[in-house]
Amino acid sequence: MQEFQTLDHDVIVIGAGGAGLRAAIEAAAHGVSVGLVCKSLLGKAHTVMAEGGIAAALANVDERDGWEVHVTDTLRGGQYVNNWRMAELHAKEAPARVRELEAWGAVFDRTPDGRILQRNFGGHRYPRLAHVGDRTGLEMIRTLQDHGVHQGIDVHMEVTVLALYQREGRVCGALAYDRERGRFRLFRAKAIVLATGGIGRAYTITSNSWEYTGDGHALAYHAGAALQDMEFVQFHPTGMVWPPSVRGILVTEGVRGEGGILVNSQGRRFMFDDIPENYRAQTADTPEEGWRYVLGDKEARRPAELLTRDHVARCIVREVREGRGSPHGGVFLDIAWIKERIPNAADHIKKKLPSMYHQFKQLADIDITKEPMEVGPTTHYVMGGVRVDGDTQMSTVPGLFAAGEVAAGLHGANRLGGNSLSDLVVFGKRAGEFAARFAKEHTALEPDQGEVNQTAREALAPFDRPAGENPYQVQHALQVMMQDLVGIVRREEEMARAVDGLETLRQRANRAGVTGNREYNPGWHTALDLPNLLTVSEAVARSAIERKESRGGHFRDDYPEKDAAWGSFNLLVQRRPDGGMAVRREPVVGVTDELTRLVEKYK
Ligand SMILES: Cc1cc2nc3c(=O)[nH]c(=O)nc-3n(C[C@H](O)[C@H](O)[C@H](O)COP(=O)(O)OP(=O)(O)OC[C@H]3O[C@@H](n4cnc5c(N)ncnc54)[C@H](O)[C@@H]3O)c2cc1C
Repeated sequence: MQEFQTLDHDVIVIGAGGAGLRAAIEAAAHGVSVGLVCKSLLGKAHTVMAEGGIAAALANVDERDGWEVHVTDTLRGGQYVNNWRMAELHAKEAPARVRELEAWGAVFDRTPDGRILQRNFGGHRYPRLAHVGDRTGLEMIRTLQDHGVHQGIDVHMEVTVLALYQREGRVCGALAYDRERGRFRLFRAKAIVLATGGIGRAYTITSNSWEYTGDGHALAYHAGAALQDMEFVQFHPTGMVWPPSVRGILVTEGVRGEGGILVNSQGRRFMFDDIPENYRAQTADTPEEGWRYVLGDKEARRPAELLTRDHVARCIVREVREGRGSPHGGVFLDIAWIKERIPNAADHIKKKLPSMYHQFKQLADIDITKEPMEVGPTTHYVMGGVRVDGDTQMSTVPGLFAAGEVAAGLHGANRLGGNSLSDLVVFGKRAGEFAARFAKEHTALEPDQGEVNQTAREALAPFDRPAGENPYQVQHALQVMMQDLVGIVRREEEMARAVDGLETLRQRANRAGVTGNREYNPGWHTALDLPNLLTVSEAVARSAIERKESRGGHFRDDYPEKDAAWGSFNLLVQRRPDGGMAVRREPVVGVTDELTRLVEKYK
């Protein structure tokens, strides 16, 4: 029998990135008691790493922009399997959320007349990303944190949630352990918001930090909630490829937004060789026109480097496979070339892309103001996640809400850069509001002690197997398998092998063991992350097998074309009563006549 510290809150928010912080602020503003739980230190969530900016149709740089254009860009980017209602709310509410950040102290870069400056990004018709150099996420987290600490929110840092509990058909609590001492904490709550971010650590090459093991996805799944769109994993086209120790670290799309070009080993700007039909009308005919767009010429269209991430990533893979790659298996991304076009180019690059300058200088000994970078695709973002109601963010389990990367719907088959940061504040706010309302309308219920004890026993089991396999080995094997068999280019037979392989890895995970004690024991923490990685990987593989077409982030070598019949369905993953994983189709939601008309208008 374990000792638990028991804590009561009306609402607990799991995750303190942009979505979690914004949800906690909003719930507190509605007068309920809020506990904010996060796996790492406050301020260290993934959101802090965001670079390029936050998308909102403020129309500060191009007055033709507006929510109508933003929503159609988001739907086109997501290849129309988005939750259309979420895309609409997001486009309409993002400008207010950005101005709110400014009112709370965020200092964005400025236009000459003092408004929030906006930059170009892939798939956005007009310059739309409010930014702070290439450190936008840092400013956002700092602002939300500064604001949040004055709202009476209780913060539980370095505390990892292991399981959720339900009574009477709704959530009532969660068991967690503190990473420092390894002791359990039982949170009782009337509503729970999941804001746990992504799943990038299911792959070897990733821009994601150690925390992104799909915990929220797995917690929701085991609570009986439906997951959606898990086949849609975003491989960002530009991660570092060299040296090996830094492989996967992100190179922001902001580099291409500022005029960076992609070239192969033959010096060819290959992105102009393959422009998808649905982007042809918006894409520059020549590099010259693309450069005029970068300079702000409103008559010019976007350079081909600013096509959507799924497409750019696949073009890079093609160049490498056909022998035109860079020495370390990527291609070249060149921003230094702009010195041919503008005076003081080096200073300009350092000002607009300070992190990129330092990142390459320190990690690869490359001066990006003088030389090209070597880049290649890296696992970056998961469009799939917890299925939520577009307005309230409540999952299919009453009282359980989800916002940010852990939730699905907004981005469909492919996320546009910048649309995540705006997603966090738009839907974080909504999740916080509706969770608070739910908490006010319901009484507290006591989690079942037997279930709580069972979670604690299972969590401590790795200590009973000191001679068991090292959990890091199992994690590494999983990452390699997902990278090889369920990566950028997918085939049925390989993915079926991955599903079998995951079962074997599950058995290995169940036998994995740790030594030492419960005080800050990273091996034990890894053992506890493993079941989550296995669950989300299985969800990705099974959904990817099911979707027999290529769309957005999901590319099937054996079904290379987009199939219109699949364009009106999402795939849902849910736990069967016997414990197995079921995958089923559901029609895309939120399509209205007004939105359909807009899509036509801005084609
Ligand atoms: C390098 C990089 C650059 C990016 N640049 C941009 C950009 O310019 N624009 C843009 O729109 N998007 C960008 N993105 C994507 C964007 O940053 C993320 O999608 C977004 O920050 C996710 O925010 P979130 O609030 O959903 O979760 P996160 O910020 O990922 O936070 C998750 C939180 O959940 C906690 N957590 C996880 N599991 C548990 C658990 N079991 N128990 C307790 N707590 C838990 C974590 O500790 C953390 O606090 C970038 C991503 C990366 C990696």
